[in-house]
Amino acid sequence: MIKRVLVTGGAGFLGSHLCDRLVAAGQDVICVDNFFTSQISNVEHLRDRRNFELIRHDVTHPLFLEVDEIYNLACPAAPGHYQYNPIKTIKTSVMGAIHMLGLAKRVRAKILHASTSEVYGDPDVHPQPEEYRGNVNPIGPRACYDEGKRAAETLMFDYRRQNGVNIRVVRIFNTYGPRMHPYDGRVVSNFIRQALAGEEITLYGSGEQTRSFCYVDDLIDGILKMMDAPDDFPGPVNLGNPEEFTIRQLAEMVKELTGSSSSIAMARSHPADDPMCRRPDINLARRRLDWEPKVPLRDGLERTLRWFKDIDLSRFRAPTPNY
Ligand code: NAD
Ligand code: UDP
Repeated sequence: MIKRVLVTGGAGFLGSHLCDRLVAAGQDVICVDNFFTSQISNVEHLRDRRNFELIRHDVTHPLFLEVDEIYNLACPAAPGHYQYNPIKTIKTSVMGAIHMLGLAKRVRAKILHASTSEVYGDPDVHPQPEEYRGNVNPIGPRACYDEGKRAAETLMFDYRRQNGVNIRVVRIFNTYGPRMHPYDGRVVSNFIRQALAGEEITLYGSGEQTRSFCYVDDLIDGILKMMDAPDDFPGPVNLGNPEEFTIRQLAEMVKELTGSSSSIAMARSHPADDPMCRRPDINLARRRLDWEPKVPLRDGLERTLRWFKDIDLSRFRAPTPNY
């Protein structure tokens, strides 16, 4: 049966790939976005499809639609983006969740919320399983995002307990791929852009901090599987690639794959509250969703590189200065 599916943040990096998959599957897709960290070009290729509709809307305001499923992705995700206007970030997370949950409750839609590994903060448990409650600084520069996302998770579970809303929560770990905003300041986009331009590759701090990078196609598979999971499994479930790399290793791999002559340099001190390690425990996703990532970092970076080589950087507005 064809479903009416709402994707908030649908013109963003992850949202646009999700829209691609839902449109290809024949669903009736409504993409809602205020284009704060994205541009229409991410979904331009979908605009003449009969089963795709684009609405410019800010999720901090209520929205009345009739839909069967909601993917709530609207929120700036890169540190530079979410720290640009931190009050707006937490409003987007919390009020966006309230409005989408209110909509889900009114029309009895199923709702999936895009949470994040940032709910674990700078973790003192490694790798991070879902039961770990995290180590977040509630008053630091990342708190607008971390605490906003934690509050959104709380709202999801309270709407489930109090109103019986059919919810799903995924905790997404660092994901990369084509259509990342080239000026989002995230490590993969920064390093690829810098390497291609022959500029210095900027390590923050020692470069010994770690991340685990998931290719976008794998991540979208996981999100779709979670939406179709049995109703007794609301999550939260970690989605990410458990292969862990230091940021220095990532810089070296990007340099090698691009054949760049860029130098790798310690460009600035470690940003405040920047987690020193991050790696998902994905046993729950393996068991309940039969999901695990398939694309190794090297392959995913090659695909991402091809996209970065093809784009015209002058067509991308840098919405925020890199932090
Ligand atoms: P993105 O910035 O490319 O996408 C977010 C989208 O939300 C953008 O299109 C933006 O314009 C839109 N948006 C922001 N504020 C809005 C508002 N008030 N109203 C309507 N639209 C708004 O980032 P992304 O990487 O695609 O992230 C998508 C979601 O996944 C976010 O909720 C993010 O927190 C979550 N997430 C992503 C990652 C990752 O590594 N990419 C990791 C963890 C969680
Ligand atoms: N980082 C870096 N150089 C850059 C951008 C980021 O060394 O040009 C580091 C950053 O300090 C962090 C890691 O790379 O330790 C991942 O940063 P990103 O902003 O991509 O995402 P985060 O996982 O911190 O949300």
